[in-house]
Amino acid sequence: MGSYSREDILRLVEEEDIQFIRMQFTDLFGQLKNVAITASQIGRALNGEIMLDGSSIQGSVRVEESDQYLRPDLNTFAILPWRPQYGKVARLICDIYNPDGTPFDGDPRNILKRTLKKAEELGYAFHVGSELEFFLFQTDEEGRPTAKTSDEAGYFDLGPLDHGESTRREVALALEKMGVEIEASHHESAAGQHEIDLKYTDALAAADNIMTFKLAVKTLAQKNGLYATFMPKPLRDAAGNGMHVNMSLFQDGRNLFYDETGERKLSPLARQFIAGLLEHARGFCALTNPVVNSYKRLVPGYEAPCYLAWSESNRSALIRIPDPRGRGTRVELRSPDTACNPYLAFAACLSAGLDGVTRELTPPPAAAGNLYAMTAEELAERNIRGLPASLDAALRAMETDGVVMEALGPYAIRYAAGKRREWEEYRTQISQWELDNYLASC
Ligand code: GLU
Ligand code: MG
Repeated sequence: MGSYSREDILRLVEEEDIQFIRMQFTDLFGQLKNVAITASQIGRALNGEIMLDGSSIQGSVRVEESDQYLRPDLNTFAILPWRPQYGKVARLICDIYNPDGTPFDGDPRNILKRTLKKAEELGYAFHVGSELEFFLFQTDEEGRPTAKTSDEAGYFDLGPLDHGESTRREVALALEKMGVEIEASHHESAAGQHEIDLKYTDALAAADNIMTFKLAVKTLAQKNGLYATFMPKPLRDAAGNGMHVNMSLFQDGRNLFYDETGERKLSPLARQFIAGLLEHARGFCALTNPVVNSYKRLVPGYEAPCYLAWSESNRSALIRIPDPRGRGTRVELRSPDTACNPYLAFAACLSAGLDGVTRELTPPPAAAGNLYAMTAEELAERNIRGLPASLDAALRAMETDGVVMEALGPYAIRYAAGKRREWEEYRTQISQWELDNYLASC
């Protein structure tokens, strides 16, 4: 992210021959939205005078209170590298405001900012780095997405087996141009599956970067004749798409999770944060894993977590502590998937961690061994519970988790209601599996 004044932006629009500016925001359910304005309107845009009809946005306001305003965050100014380079297109990520000048409670960016402010009051800066997985599939003759790939590569493989090399390269280059720092990119374990890791940054920029990342991947995949999907589990017998979230708390540039003298070189603060995450992991699951399909990924055997446990390095646990210590000390939460609204997911995770800190919770002992291989009895003996098995169960866990509901604020109820409708629609479908199993036998 840059650091721009109003004058910088007016000058850049002129000098760079920018003809359109996209005013972007994210709706409650994680969908990126934008309205394009012409360069002649930039003054009004910077004054926060561009309006939107909130009642037409999912999860937003009612018809009778529909006027809302977009106030751009100047530091998010970036030119879209994949649009024409004459008559360029820039974007500004915006906050949504009510006509009375107050921030809109249902704006996910505002929800995250509110939580970050609470952390700041306690003296903490919340840093996040994310590992984003996705599939690149082929399209059919009519250009519609399929779940097919001719790519035969696996983990860390390279061309010619890897058919997504060009797309990954273009995404990495485009994002770097936009000020998003990429740490690594590689082929993932399933055929057609890829991962790009974003360097850690403050949580607001991290969430903005994820929204930018998803747009870049979808757009550049299409340019390469492929279709990108972040669907959590598109194929039953292959790994799903995770979004591992690496979290740490900083103070005056110092990583507070690191303690040279602590057990495993982790500070008491890091332990309390882990305990908070474990305490609320069921409660925030409907946010980190927001769609019906999310729960088909959280099954044993594909490096996705299903149990509430933490571990030094075991990839079957919900929380892992990757090896680096010092500045790089972090807690890796492995449950989130790329379908989530990152603003809400980060707000919920931070609130959960901070709850552990303020209540000085102690985490259970780190889990040893492969959790996937444990029997129900072995898990019960160790007091290890599971993550919710469906969106329905996750919503029930969320509605009874005061910390998560408070993190979302007044719009928690609207989020849950929207997701409940999605669940009900799914619940009443008759699937091929049911027909195959019951038509003849019943
Ligand atoms: N794709 C796995 C998941 O669903 C994660 C693989 C990895 O460890 O990167 O979370
Ligand atoms: Mg991965």
